[in-house]
Amino acid sequence: MKIKYCKKCLMPSTKPYLTFNDEGICNACQSSEKKDKKKSENQIDWSKREREFNDLIDWAKEQNAPCYDAIVPVSGGKDSITQVHRLLNKGLRILAVNVDYGIKTKIGKYNLERIPEMGANLIIFRPELTLHKKLIKIGLEEYGDPDLLSHTLLHAYPLHVAKQFNIPLCLLGENSAFEYGGDEKLANNNEITREYFNHYAANKGMTAKVFGKKHNIPFELLWQYDFPDEIENNTEIKAVFCSYYFNWDSNENLKIAQSYGFKQLELAKEGTYRKFVGVDEQINRLHQYIKVLKFGYGRATDHACEDIRLGILSREVAKKLVKEYDLQPLGEEYIKSISRFLNYEREEFIGILDRFRNKDIWHKNSNNNWYIKNHLED
Ligand SMILES: [Zn+2]
Repeated sequence: MKIKYCKKCLMPSTKPYLTFNDEGICNACQSSEKKDKKKSENQIDWSKREREFNDLIDWAKEQNAPCYDAIVPVSGGKDSITQVHRLLNKGLRILAVNVDYGIKTKIGKYNLERIPEMGANLIIFRPELTLHKKLIKIGLEEYGDPDLLSHTLLHAYPLHVAKQFNIPLCLLGENSAFEYGGDEKLANNNEITREYFNHYAANKGMTAKVFGKKHNIPFELLWQYDFPDEIENNTEIKAVFCSYYFNWDSNENLKIAQSYGFKQLELAKEGTYRKFVGVDEQINRLHQYIKVLKFGYGRATDHACEDIRLGILSREVAKKLVKEYDLQPLGEEYIKSISRFLNYEREEFIGILDRFRNKDIWHKNSNNNWYIKNHLED
């Protein structure tokens, strides 16, 4: 199979939910043009959006909530620090919620410490690991996605907390449908809905309910991994995307986070050239690597495409970076630590990964090495 690439960025046709217009431009690039006033007639009026945000803050205060006015899901990464930043100095009582399933890095712990110092209360939620590791392993072995249920937990748990404490405003990060290409109706929504959750938090409708039924895990144990339906169309709780109100720009978010002491890596890690992503936990590297096996692109592509859209990289320079970083195999140290965490023998773990290599795009050369035909051509 020949992969087709967006003419403007380097997104491949193998990416789920990606579509191209007649000029061969992907839907994520089309979204990004809307963000830039100079480039588009359907430009977003960011000052109007900021006024809408301020109205929302006033509304949250007027609710006279019993415990907190706003809740923010946080990983301790640059984006979540930016979300907290947007709420500071507005007289709100802020609760940040972090979900930690035991693989936080040292630098990730350090960055998370910035949150209470900024002026938000912080709850760290630790799911019990017998079940959570089981969910990671089923996700990995059956679906090639170790983050499958972790991802739904990160989205859902803070919403459950909002519901329990009656917190009126929940400030989520970016709307993936808008930023990375997806359904147009969902992309233009400011609030999270069940439909969005099923598509972008759960993978293609694999919610905790569906997953639990398939793998015989009672829903009483999985409720916290699922979207609380009471949130949708709720006039007392509004769960909105920060990226709707403020231009979601990784490099800008990095600057904001650094002003609160956020630390990035000293050296770029495997799989990408950026030093400020994936610093807080380890499983994401595995998730991204399987993406490379399944779809022939990884996180260096994600980052390069974003930098092309921002005008930081030319398509040619971006191509070079993607070639250098994107297809890097997992390092031995990484394989050791993740196999240990998930109780796999090395060979067993490698065997599982290999099952997800898409043989329509990956081929073997005469030296028995894997390569992608027409990789990044045109
Ligand atoms: Zn594109």
